[in-house]
Amino acid sequence: MSYDVLVIGGGPAGLSAAINAHARGKSVLVVSNPLEENPLWRSEKVDNYLGLPAMTGAELLTAFQKHAESAGATFKVGRVLNAAMMGNEWYVSIGSDVEEARTVVLAAGVARGNKFPGEEEFLGRGVSYCATCDGMLYRERPVAVLGWADSARQEADFLTSIGCQVSFFEKPKTCEIKGDKTVESVTCDGKTVQADCVFILRPAMPPTDLFPGLSMDGGFVAVNRQMATNLPGLFAAGDCTGGPLQVSKAAGEGLIAGQSAARWIDKKQRENQ
Ligand SMILES: Cc1cc2nc3c(=O)[nH]c(=O)nc-3n(C[C@H](O)[C@H](O)[C@H](O)COP(=O)(O)OP(=O)(O)OC[C@H]3O[C@@H](n4cnc5c(N)ncnc54)[C@H](O)[C@@H]3O)c2cc1C
Repeated sequence: MSYDVLVIGGGPAGLSAAINAHARGKSVLVVSNPLEENPLWRSEKVDNYLGLPAMTGAELLTAFQKHAESAGATFKVGRVLNAAMMGNEWYVSIGSDVEEARTVVLAAGVARGNKFPGEEEFLGRGVSYCATCDGMLYRERPVAVLGWADSARQEADFLTSIGCQVSFFEKPKTCEIKGDKTVESVTCDGKTVQADCVFILRPAMPPTDLFPGLSMDGGFVAVNRQMATNLPGLFAAGDCTGGPLQVSKAAGEGLIAGQSAARWIDKKQRENQ
Protein backbone atom coordinates (compact mmCIF):
# COMPACT_ATOMS: atom_id res chain seq x y z
CA MET A 1 0.00 0.00 0.00
CA SER A 2 1.16 3.53 -0.70
CA TYR A 3 0.56 6.11 2.01
CA ASP A 4 -0.04 9.81 1.44
CA VAL A 5 2.43 10.79 4.15
CA LEU A 6 5.21 8.74 5.72
CA VAL A 7 6.61 10.29 8.88
CA ILE A 8 10.11 9.31 10.01
CA GLY A 9 10.35 9.69 13.79
CA GLY A 10 7.76 9.23 16.51
CA GLY A 11 8.74 12.18 18.72
CA PRO A 12 6.74 15.39 19.26
CA ALA A 13 7.43 16.69 15.72
CA GLY A 14 6.57 13.48 13.92
CA LEU A 15 3.44 12.78 15.97
CA SER A 16 2.20 16.34 15.50
CA ALA A 17 2.82 16.04 11.73
CA ALA A 18 0.90 12.74 11.71
CA ILE A 19 -2.12 14.18 13.55
CA ASN A 20 -2.31 17.24 11.34
CA ALA A 21 -1.82 15.43 8.01
CA HIS A 22 -4.48 12.92 9.04
CA ALA A 23 -6.82 15.78 10.00
CA ARG A 24 -6.56 16.88 6.34
CA GLY A 25 -7.80 13.50 5.14
CA LYS A 26 -4.43 11.92 4.37
CA SER A 27 -3.34 8.38 5.17
CA VAL A 28 -0.31 8.47 7.44
CA LEU A 29 2.36 5.94 8.41
CA VAL A 30 4.71 6.81 11.29
CA VAL A 31 7.95 4.81 11.25
CA SER A 32 10.08 5.12 14.35
CA ASN A 33 12.40 3.41 16.78
CA PRO A 34 10.55 2.19 19.92
CA LEU A 35 9.08 5.07 21.94
CA GLU A 36 11.22 4.18 24.96
CA GLU A 37 14.33 4.91 22.88
CA ASN A 38 13.34 8.54 22.34
CA PRO A 39 15.86 10.73 24.22
CA LEU A 40 13.00 12.62 25.93
CA TRP A 41 11.77 9.34 27.51
CA ARG A 42 14.50 9.72 30.14
CA SER A 43 13.48 13.22 31.22
CA GLU A 44 12.16 13.27 34.79
CA LYS A 45 10.25 16.51 34.34
CA VAL A 46 9.25 18.61 31.34
CA ASP A 47 8.14 21.89 32.84
CA ASN A 48 7.78 24.23 29.89
CA TYR A 49 5.25 22.48 27.64
CA LEU A 50 2.12 24.63 27.56
CA GLY A 51 -0.73 23.46 29.77
CA LEU A 52 0.91 20.20 30.85
CA PRO A 53 3.54 21.12 33.46
CA ALA A 54 5.53 18.60 35.50
CA MET A 55 4.91 15.59 33.30
CA THR A 56 7.77 13.17 32.80
CA GLY A 57 9.14 12.76 29.28
CA ALA A 58 7.71 9.24 29.19
CA GLU A 59 4.22 10.47 30.18
CA LEU A 60 4.27 13.22 27.59
CA LEU A 61 5.47 10.95 24.78
CA THR A 62 2.91 8.29 25.68
CA ALA A 63 0.13 10.90 25.59
CA PHE A 64 1.36 12.20 22.21
CA GLN A 65 1.47 8.70 20.74
CA LYS A 66 -1.99 7.78 22.06
CA HIS A 67 -3.33 10.97 20.48
CA ALA A 68 -1.79 10.13 17.09
CA GLU A 69 -3.05 6.53 17.29
CA SER A 70 -6.58 7.62 18.16
CA ALA A 71 -6.48 10.19 15.35
CA GLY A 72 -5.96 7.30 12.91
CA ALA A 73 -2.24 7.22 12.10
CA THR A 74 -0.68 3.82 11.42
CA PHE A 75 2.53 2.93 13.26
CA LYS A 76 5.49 0.77 12.34
CA VAL A 77 8.43 0.21 14.70
CA GLY A 78 11.75 0.18 12.86
CA ARG A 79 14.78 2.15 11.83
CA VAL A 80 14.73 3.94 8.49
CA LEU A 81 17.96 3.30 6.60
CA ASN A 82 17.44 5.40 3.48
CA ALA A 83 14.86 6.78 1.10
CA ALA A 84 14.72 7.53 -2.60
CA MET A 85 12.17 9.07 -4.93
CA MET A 86 11.27 7.12 -8.06
CA GLY A 87 8.59 8.46 -10.33
CA ASN A 88 6.28 10.36 -8.01
CA GLU A 89 6.73 8.06 -5.01
CA TRP A 90 9.12 7.91 -2.11
CA TYR A 91 10.49 4.43 -1.35
CA VAL A 92 11.63 4.20 2.25
CA SER A 93 13.78 1.28 3.49
CA ILE A 94 13.09 0.09 7.02
CA GLY A 95 15.43 -2.79 7.80
CA SER A 96 14.70 -5.23 4.99
CA ASP A 97 11.18 -3.80 4.35
CA VAL A 98 10.23 -1.00 1.98
CA GLU A 99 7.26 1.36 2.39
CA GLU A 100 5.90 3.70 -0.27
CA ALA A 101 4.49 7.19 0.18
CA ARG A 102 3.74 10.28 -1.85
CA THR A 103 5.35 12.61 0.68
CA VAL A 104 7.72 12.18 3.61
CA VAL A 105 8.07 14.21 6.80
CA LEU A 106 11.53 13.84 8.32
CA ALA A 107 11.21 14.28 12.09
CA ALA A 108 14.10 12.13 13.28
CA GLY A 109 15.51 14.44 15.93
CA VAL A 110 19.21 15.13 16.19
CA ALA A 111 21.71 12.49 15.07
CA ARG A 112 24.43 12.62 17.72
CA GLY A 113 28.00 11.43 17.22
CA ASN A 114 30.43 11.50 14.33
CA LYS A 115 31.27 8.66 12.00
CA PHE A 116 34.16 6.41 13.02
CA PRO A 117 37.40 6.15 11.06
CA GLY A 118 36.89 3.47 8.41
CA GLU A 119 33.08 3.62 8.57
CA GLU A 120 32.54 5.57 5.35
CA GLU A 121 35.44 3.83 3.57
CA PHE A 122 34.14 0.29 4.22
CA LEU A 123 30.39 0.95 3.89
CA GLY A 124 29.02 -1.96 1.84
CA ARG A 125 32.37 -3.81 2.16
CA GLY A 126 31.96 -4.95 5.75
CA VAL A 127 30.19 -2.01 7.35
CA SER A 128 26.42 -2.34 7.62
CA TYR A 129 23.63 -0.44 9.37
CA CYS A 130 21.16 -3.35 9.32
CA ALA A 131 21.71 -6.79 10.88
CA THR A 132 18.50 -8.31 9.53
CA CYS A 133 19.32 -7.11 5.99
CA ASP A 134 22.96 -8.19 5.73
CA GLY A 135 23.41 -10.73 8.54
CA MET A 136 22.92 -13.80 6.32
CA LEU A 137 25.99 -12.82 4.28
CA TYR A 138 28.12 -13.36 7.38
CA ARG A 139 26.84 -16.72 8.71
CA GLU A 140 29.52 -18.73 10.51
CA ARG A 141 31.85 -15.70 10.41
CA PRO A 142 33.05 -13.25 13.06
CA VAL A 143 31.11 -9.98 13.21
CA ALA A 144 30.97 -7.05 15.61
CA VAL A 145 27.88 -5.13 16.68
CA LEU A 146 28.26 -1.57 17.92
CA GLY A 147 25.00 -0.78 19.68
CA TRP A 148 23.52 2.34 21.25
CA ALA A 149 19.82 1.60 20.93
CA ASP A 150 18.19 -0.98 23.25
CA SER A 151 17.08 -2.91 20.17
CA ALA A 152 20.74 -3.42 19.18
CA ARG A 153 21.00 -6.30 21.66
CA GLN A 154 18.08 -8.01 19.85
CA GLU A 155 19.83 -7.54 16.50
CA ALA A 156 23.00 -9.06 18.00
CA ASP A 157 20.92 -12.02 19.26
CA PHE A 158 19.51 -12.42 15.76
CA LEU A 159 23.04 -12.59 14.33
CA THR A 160 24.01 -15.22 16.92
CA SER A 161 20.86 -17.21 16.08
CA ILE A 162 21.87 -17.46 12.40
CA GLY A 163 25.38 -18.64 13.30
CA CYS A 164 27.50 -15.49 13.36
CA GLN A 165 30.23 -15.24 16.01
CA VAL A 166 29.24 -11.93 17.58
CA SER A 167 31.33 -9.44 19.57
CA PHE A 168 29.00 -6.87 21.11
CA PHE A 169 30.16 -3.38 22.06
CA GLU A 170 27.57 -1.42 24.03
CA LYS A 171 27.65 2.37 23.59
CA PRO A 172 31.35 2.49 22.56
CA LYS A 173 32.90 5.95 22.59
CA THR A 174 35.76 5.51 20.14
CA CYS A 175 36.04 2.90 17.39
CA GLU A 176 38.26 2.37 14.38
CA ILE A 177 37.43 -0.05 11.59
CA LYS A 178 40.37 -1.56 9.72
CA GLY A 179 40.87 -3.82 6.74
CA ASP A 180 42.28 -4.07 3.27
CA LYS A 181 39.68 -4.57 0.53
CA THR A 182 37.06 -5.51 3.12
CA VAL A 183 36.78 -5.16 6.90
CA GLU A 184 39.09 -7.32 8.98
CA SER A 185 38.91 -5.91 12.52
CA VAL A 186 37.48 -3.23 14.73
CA THR A 187 38.95 -1.57 17.80
CA CYS A 188 36.50 -0.01 20.26
CA ASP A 189 37.53 1.71 23.50
CA GLY A 190 40.92 -0.02 23.31
CA LYS A 191 39.67 -3.58 22.62
CA THR A 192 40.35 -5.13 19.19
CA VAL A 193 38.33 -7.99 17.74
CA GLN A 194 38.47 -9.75 14.40
CA ALA A 195 35.35 -9.02 12.33
CA ASP A 196 34.33 -9.59 8.71
CA CYS A 197 31.45 -7.17 9.21
CA VAL A 198 30.82 -4.35 11.66
CA PHE A 199 27.13 -3.62 12.26
CA ILE A 200 26.74 -0.03 13.44
CA LEU A 201 23.33 0.36 15.07
CA ARG A 202 22.87 3.96 16.10
CA PRO A 203 19.35 5.09 16.96
CA ALA A 204 19.56 7.94 14.44
CA MET A 205 21.41 8.47 11.16
CA PRO A 206 22.57 11.77 9.69
CA PRO A 207 19.80 13.23 7.47
CA THR A 208 22.11 13.27 4.43
CA ASP A 209 22.67 9.50 4.79
CA LEU A 210 18.91 8.97 4.75
CA PHE A 211 18.33 11.43 1.89
CA PRO A 212 21.30 11.88 -0.45
CA GLY A 213 21.23 15.38 -1.94
CA LEU A 214 19.44 16.93 1.04
CA SER A 215 20.52 20.54 1.66
CA MET A 216 21.84 21.30 5.13
CA ASP A 217 22.44 24.56 6.94
CA GLY A 218 24.91 24.58 9.85
CA GLY A 219 24.46 20.85 10.50
CA PHE A 220 20.65 20.99 10.39
CA VAL A 221 18.16 20.28 7.60
CA ALA A 222 17.53 23.45 5.58
CA VAL A 223 13.80 24.25 5.35
CA ASN A 224 11.61 27.18 4.34
CA ARG A 225 8.64 28.49 6.36
CA GLN A 226 6.45 25.67 5.02
CA MET A 227 9.04 23.20 6.40
CA ALA A 228 9.80 22.14 2.82
CA THR A 229 13.30 20.88 2.07
CA ASN A 230 15.09 21.16 -1.28
CA LEU A 231 13.83 17.67 -2.26
CA PRO A 232 10.34 17.39 -3.83
CA GLY A 233 7.70 16.06 -1.42
CA LEU A 234 10.11 15.96 1.52
CA PHE A 235 9.34 18.11 4.56
CA ALA A 236 11.23 18.27 7.85
CA ALA A 237 10.31 19.31 11.40
CA GLY A 238 11.61 19.43 14.95
CA ASP A 239 15.12 19.15 16.31
CA CYS A 240 16.50 18.02 12.92
CA THR A 241 15.85 21.53 11.53
CA GLY A 242 17.71 23.34 14.33
CA GLY A 243 17.17 25.09 17.65
CA PRO A 244 15.64 25.78 19.99
CA LEU A 245 15.67 22.03 20.63
CA GLN A 246 12.41 22.04 22.53
CA VAL A 247 9.13 20.14 22.52
CA SER A 248 6.90 23.13 21.72
CA LYS A 249 8.96 24.12 18.70
CA ALA A 250 8.98 20.50 17.48
CA ALA A 251 5.21 20.14 17.83
CA GLY A 252 4.62 23.48 16.06
CA GLU A 253 6.88 22.62 13.16
CA GLY A 254 5.28 19.18 12.95
CA LEU A 255 1.91 20.85 12.47
CA ILE A 256 3.24 22.98 9.62
CA ALA A 257 5.05 20.05 7.98
CA GLY A 258 1.96 17.81 8.19
CA GLN A 259 -0.26 20.49 6.69
CA SER A 260 2.30 21.33 4.00
CA ALA A 261 2.58 17.68 2.99
CA ALA A 262 -1.21 17.46 2.69
CA ARG A 263 -1.30 20.65 0.61
CA TRP A 264 1.49 19.36 -1.65
CA ILE A 265 -0.53 16.19 -2.39
CA ASP A 266 -3.69 18.21 -3.14
CA LYS A 267 -1.73 20.47 -5.51
CA LYS A 268 -0.23 17.48 -7.36
CA GLN A 269 -3.69 15.96 -7.67
CA ARG A 270 -5.09 19.19 -9.19
CA GLU A 271 -2.16 19.38 -11.63
CA ASN A 272 -2.83 15.81 -12.81
CA GLN A 273 -6.56 16.42 -13.44
C1 LIG B 1 16.91 14.38 28.85
C2 LIG B 1 16.17 15.41 28.01
C3 LIG B 1 15.38 16.34 28.64
C4 LIG B 1 14.68 17.29 27.88
N1 LIG B 1 13.87 18.18 28.50
C5 LIG B 1 13.15 19.05 27.78
C6 LIG B 1 12.25 19.96 28.43
O1 LIG B 1 12.14 20.00 29.64
N2 LIG B 1 11.52 20.79 27.63
C7 LIG B 1 11.62 20.79 26.27
O2 LIG B 1 10.90 21.54 25.60
N3 LIG B 1 12.47 19.95 25.64
C8 LIG B 1 13.23 19.09 26.35
N4 LIG B 1 14.11 18.25 25.72
C9 LIG B 1 14.26 18.36 24.25
C10 LIG B 1 13.14 17.60 23.53
O3 LIG B 1 13.19 16.26 23.93
C11 LIG B 1 13.32 17.69 22.01
O4 LIG B 1 13.42 19.05 21.61
C12 LIG B 1 12.14 17.05 21.29
O5 LIG B 1 11.94 15.73 21.72
C13 LIG B 1 12.37 17.08 19.79
O6 LIG B 1 11.33 16.41 19.14
P1 LIG B 1 11.55 15.73 17.70
O7 LIG B 1 10.26 15.07 17.40
O8 LIG B 1 12.10 16.72 16.76
O9 LIG B 1 12.71 14.66 17.91
P2 LIG B 1 12.80 13.45 18.90
O10 LIG B 1 11.93 13.64 20.10
O11 LIG B 1 14.26 13.23 19.12
O12 LIG B 1 12.17 12.24 18.08
C14 LIG B 1 12.80 11.67 16.99
C15 LIG B 1 12.46 10.20 16.97
O13 LIG B 1 12.88 9.66 15.72
C16 LIG B 1 13.53 8.42 15.95
N5 LIG B 1 14.45 8.18 14.85
C17 LIG B 1 15.59 8.84 14.55
N6 LIG B 1 16.13 8.36 13.44
C18 LIG B 1 15.32 7.38 13.02
C19 LIG B 1 15.36 6.49 11.92
N7 LIG B 1 16.36 6.52 11.03
N8 LIG B 1 14.37 5.59 11.79
C20 LIG B 1 13.35 5.53 12.69
N9 LIG B 1 13.26 6.35 13.76
C21 LIG B 1 14.24 7.27 13.91
C22 LIG B 1 14.25 8.62 17.29
O14 LIG B 1 14.58 7.38 17.88
C23 LIG B 1 13.18 9.40 18.04
O15 LIG B 1 12.26 8.54 18.66
C24 LIG B 1 14.82 17.31 26.47
C25 LIG B 1 15.65 16.36 25.85
C26 LIG B 1 16.32 15.42 26.61
C27 LIG B 1 17.19 14.41 25.92
